[in-house]
Amino acid sequence: MEEFDFIKSIQPKYYQQPTTIKGIGDDAAILRHTNEDIITTVDTMVEDVHFSTSTTEPFHIGYRALAANISDIAAMGGKPTSYLVSIVIPKNWSQESLQQIYNGMNQLAKRYRMDLIGGDTVSGKQLSLSITVIGTVNSKKVRYRSSALEDDIVFVTGSLGDSACGLHILLNSGESARDKYQYFIDRHRMPEPRVNFINECTTIDRITLNDVSDGIANELNEIAEASHKTIVIDYDKVPSHPLLKNFSEELQYDWKLSGGEDFELLGTVSSHNWEQLKTSAVKTGTPITKIGMVKGQANQNSLVWLLHNDQLKRLKKSGYTHLRR
Ligand code: ADP
Ligand code: MG
Repeated sequence: MEEFDFIKSIQPKYYQQPTTIKGIGDDAAILRHTNEDIITTVDTMVEDVHFSTSTTEPFHIGYRALAANISDIAAMGGKPTSYLVSIVIPKNWSQESLQQIYNGMNQLAKRYRMDLIGGDTVSGKQLSLSITVIGTVNSKKVRYRSSALEDDIVFVTGSLGDSACGLHILLNSGESARDKYQYFIDRHRMPEPRVNFINECTTIDRITLNDVSDGIANELNEIAEASHKTIVIDYDKVPSHPLLKNFSEELQYDWKLSGGEDFELLGTVSSHNWEQLKTSAVKTGTPITKIGMVKGQANQNSLVWLLHNDQLKRLKKSGYTHLRR
């Protein structure tokens, strides 16, 4: 199939956002925004680095790639509105498989009424999918990482370690374990960004926020660093699914703190706003858990501390880092 036929096949029949003035079909897209701040973010997924076709169907490659981007928009406190897709296609990929990637993105985009407004199509050796998402946010309710204050409550939505456990099952287990742990596999394949929850929190002026893409060991350090504060969390409070208890203590520890890709929201709020935050969580069916507190001024050696087995120890950044040699 030619590039132009391919573009035609993925072109939306209509646009859902009033802000989309021109989508696919010219040299660039045109959006019209007047009253809100614009959020943009881009993420790239490369075959054999971010996913393997042996554990991931094309549908889920598309779904997860877009979910990761939408989660970044949620972590700024915004709503996603449109996206662009740049794709590198190897010769051995069928038209059907490519369509499935777009179907995966489409399923999620529909839920948020997001428009596909452009992209780029080139051929190459390995499948690579780069998605740019555009969103909007009320300029007074942008959620930065840098706004944590002493005595804030540290919270996280949902449960942690699910995605890493799901991948572990896909890589190591047979049919019966897959049935038993289908929940984790689903969470790995189709994570749900917490857009609705954060957009329900509009009465709270200050929420410090990050999304869980690399694991909370990383994201807590990012908040502590950006806010120049020390954070203390209690390992026993870190929420996980009951079935995770079936795995070794070591695996649970690793998955919950460094697993990542759960795309939950991790943040801090003033204790005065905690009840309000919980109300928004209930309204949107979002589990939320207090896992720790923000303490005073940080110095380089004391950013994040973990209370585990009655001992307080430093929690350092962990997980996969690109470009490390
Ligand atoms: P140009 O040569 O002007 O950059 P292209 O021929 O590359 O334009 O693309 C034509 C139109 O199709 C543009 O609107 C572009 O944004 C869109 N497009 C191209 N590839 C994709 C893709 N993979 N997904 C979505 N839109 C695409
Ligand atoms: Mg052009």
